[in-house]
Parts: sequence; C-alpha cells; structure tokens
Amino acid sequence: MKQFILILLTSIPLVSYGQSTILQNINIIDVINDEIKPGKSIEIKEGIIHKIHDSIFFGENTDTVLNLENKYVIPGLIDSHTHIEHSGNWSAASPYNPPRKNLLELLKHALYGGVTTIREMACDVRIMAELSRAAHIDLIPSPDIFYPSLFAGPPFFKDPRANAGALGAIPGHVSWFRGIDEKTDLPMAIAQAKGNGSTALKLYALLKPDQIKQISQEAHNQNLKVWAHASTQYAKPSEVVESGVQSISHATMLLYELSAKPDYTKYPDNDSTLQNLFTKMIDNNVSFDPTLFIYNNSERENRFNIATRITQKAYEAGVRIIAGTDSISAYLNFPFPFIHDELGYYVHNCNFSNIYALKTATINAAITLGLEKEIGSIEEAKKANLVVLDKNPIENIDNTKSISFIMKNGVLYKR
Ligand SMILES: [Zn+2]
Repeated sequence: MKQFILILLTSIPLVSYGQSTILQNINIIDVINDEIKPGKSIEIKEGIIHKIHDSIFFGENTDTVLNLENKYVIPGLIDSHTHIEHSGNWSAASPYNPPRKNLLELLKHALYGGVTTIREMACDVRIMAELSRAAHIDLIPSPDIFYPSLFAGPPFFKDPRANAGALGAIPGHVSWFRGIDEKTDLPMAIAQAKGNGSTALKLYALLKPDQIKQISQEAHNQNLKVWAHASTQYAKPSEVVESGVQSISHATMLLYELSAKPDYTKYPDNDSTLQNLFTKMIDNNVSFDPTLFIYNNSERENRFNIATRITQKAYEAGVRIIAGTDSISAYLNFPFPFIHDELGYYVHNCNFSNIYALKTATINAAITLGLEKEIGSIEEAKKANLVVLDKNPIENIDNTKSISFIMKNGVLYKR
C-alpha cells in the first residue's frame, strides 16, 4: 500500500511559474454560489485561471495536464490573523527576533498546509516587506503576505512586543508602529505607512472614537484598509464599527459593548446589546475575525465557550465572519497550520455550515483584504491559488486536511 501511495504522489509533476496547466475533470467548490460544480476542467496560464471548461478539456501545447477525477478543489486558504514573528517553536528562546530560516520554515509549512495568503496583523515591516516581496514573486515557498502598520495611543508602545518590532528605532515613532496623539500629522503618518508597503492600518489600544474616525477617513482617502481590535479601551465595539473600519478582531472583545469590565464567566442572559452590535456590523459592512484558536486552552475554557457562543450568534445574525488564528502554526509536531483548527471550531462548536466555514477562509477574507477580484474563489481571471483535496470538504470540514497538492500563482506544491 505504501509503495502504491508513493507512486501516486510522484506521478504529479512539478509545475513552475508561467507554465500552462489543465486540472481536468475536477469538482469545484464554488464559494460564491455555495455549490459543487462537478466534472470541470480548469485551464491555467501565466499563474491565472484562464478558463473553466464544462467537461474534459485537453488544450493545445499545454505543459501539464492532470486528470483529477473524484478530487475536489477549493480556493487557497487565507488566514486573516497571523503573527509569524511570534508563532514558531523558537519563540520561547528568542521571542521577538526570530531567525530568518525559522520564518521561512513556518511560511513553507503554512503554504504546504493549504494557506496561500496571510493577513499579518502587526509586525516589523522591515522583515515583512522583504518576505512579502519574495513570496509574491514565488522566490520562496510561502503564502502571499499582506500587512498593516499599527497605530495606537502612545503609551501602548512601552509594550515589549512593540520594542521588538522596532529594534534599532523608537517604537511609536516609526511608520509601522505609530503613536497617535492630537499633534500627529495624520495625512503624513498614513502616507508613510503606505510607503512602507502596508496595505492597511491596524488600530490597536488607547485610541478614542473620534481619532478612529479621522484615521479611517484619511486612510480611505489614501486607499488603505483599516483593521481594528473590537475595542480600543477608549472606544467600545459599536464605536469602532461605526468609525469606518473594515474588520474587528477577537470574539470576547465584543463583551466590551456591555461593560468596561466584561464578565468572562458566562454568555449574557439578555444579549440584545450584542444583537444590536451585530446589526451595526452588517450595516457598516464590517467583517468579524473571532480568532477562536487562541481561546482553546484549558486555562481559558470559559473564554472559549463564550467566544464560540458569540461567534455562533454573529453567524446566525448574518455578520461576515473571517477566519484568523492569531498565530499561524507551530510547524514542528503539527502536521497542519492552525487555520484548519479554526474552521473546525466554526463547524463543530458554532454550528456553521461547512460551506460557510470555507467562505470564512476564502472569499470573505478576500473581501476584507480588498482583493476579491484577484483571490478567494475559483473563477476565471483570478489567480490560480487553490488546494486540491482527496475528500469532499462540504461533507466534512476536516476534509480540508486531505490535501493532494497546492497551487499558488499557478506554481504546484506537492504535499
Ligand atoms: Zn493579533
């Protein structure tokens, strides 16, 4: 049996950038129309899905034709909340200054686990800009990386994580870790953030509602997205949501809508305040990134239970959910990146449908990144970022782990 598997694995050829490929006779999981499209052929040219054919298609002068009968293809997974500098097994020894080789291992592990894009949620952009460039042009096996610059009230930058992310400079006074007060020249600060390669701002602690509003407005003028914590201490979730941000993070932070000192022991008996918040999120087109993965440990059992309840209620209310791990992976001893766990919690603990769970890590995430025309679904003219599975993920979400191979920009990575 082992020998048989080996032959099967090695029968998939290497495909590099620029080559044309046809994925023949495959079942497409369509996350736009929530259906399976059986027996399609996907024609890939120059890293782009050139055409989707209704039946078996051979093409002319195609470099590689793969018959994938009985297999399923989903869009490449997007982890909407990563911290790669703090996530690996090295972090105990070298918490905030990871060796580059470890970062490369971690990114490779994520890609081979089906993650083709990450939203890196606060980082040293000097490191991330270089990795992002290499990933985007396929110099390294890595998900494509999109990152923000972090804005917060000046006292936040005493945090050791800020120090680590600005080594050699003064945290709070660099374009990617910027302390904001009434004297800040906002258009200039935001232009500098854009100049360092950020595609968004992340709004963190100690910002007031009117500051969030001003920052969001100017960020949008300069064509940057705004991603925020669900509460910034001075602003409660509804104030953050109504300020023009595109997403809010961390499920239990929604409890700040009820009280400045939330009760983490139980889900509120009367949750009408949360229901009103969900309505505001929908009205303001704000995505919700619950990060259940970080709550799932024995010391935080209560928080995990409350976080899953909040996430389920948000889902039932119709809020757009995006899957993020607040980590990414630990790679050693873990066969898969944590996004698969996050999707599992949505289905097993929050009653999501399997197809909706898939949307959280594909099209919903792409919308929040502002990249829905390029990634997030298997459609013509989009990037050939996809994961081929042996088993149907609509029958069981855990089948996202039955990975046969991954493609990013049309380049094939065999697991
Ligand atoms: Zn985070």
